[in-house]
Amino acid sequence: MRTRLFLLDLGRMHMQRSGFLGDLPKNDPIASEVVEFPISACLIDGPQGRILYDAGCHPDAMKPNGRWPQDFQSQFPWSGDESCHLPNRLEQLGLGADDIDHVVLSHLHSDHAGCVEFFSNSQVIVHRNEFDAALLAHKRREDDGFYAWRDIEHWRMPDLNWRLVEEQEEELSITEQVTLLNWGAGHSAGMLGLELSLPESGQVILASDAVYSLDNLGPPLRPTGFNFSSVKAAQTVEKIRVRALSHNAQIWCGHDMSQFLSLRCSTDGWYE
Ligand SMILES: [Zn+2]
Repeated sequence: MRTRLFLLDLGRMHMQRSGFLGDLPKNDPIASEVVEFPISACLIDGPQGRILYDAGCHPDAMKPNGRWPQDFQSQFPWSGDESCHLPNRLEQLGLGADDIDHVVLSHLHSDHAGCVEFFSNSQVIVHRNEFDAALLAHKRREDDGFYAWRDIEHWRMPDLNWRLVEEQEEELSITEQVTLLNWGAGHSAGMLGLELSLPESGQVILASDAVYSLDNLGPPLRPTGFNFSSVKAAQTVEKIRVRALSHNAQIWCGHDMSQFLSLRCSTDGWYE
């Protein structure tokens, strides 16, 4: 069996363009335009197991008294039908949460870690500093929606099998075809990516929010609007750009609408 890469469509969110391009002048009308962008995850199904990269938004994110605070729901609304909830997307492929061996979380923001609680049979891989940052926000009862307090409340700590990636673990091989890339602080406190080697599609770097969109990649490199460390976020983008060049790899961005629409989603097939 060959390794297959499935792109899962997990709905859309909306925010002002200044969130994508942090260098737009505040008074530029383009900065306040509301832009629609995709939420996605990737499933890698191979002979050495199944890996899920990111876990979307919780199905109850957008309700009155939903998982996300009301302010966040208004500022960054999610939309999509039932099929866009991660458990349903997996079910379309004949899979349940229990069939996933490893869940790699690029980071713990609410549009990437919303469904973690369903994966109590998987090893959940996350950067230690990111884990600490989310738990600290939870302990302080901070709920800005990026780390969604009510999601974290449901992580049922003893049941989830966390594998925390340490700062010095720069690269880890998960399977023969899949390498975990530790980018550290940048967009958030600790970012993780994956690089896949596929026999037909070649090298693919799953960058998630380390590269929001191809606009950020440039050249010239342009910053996003939300960063834990702007300097380190820019260094990560450059690191990814250089790696992609030397490995002849595609970069799949976290929230690039045109790139997303150009890719094949799991409803239409896969990459191998
Ligand atoms: Zn995101």
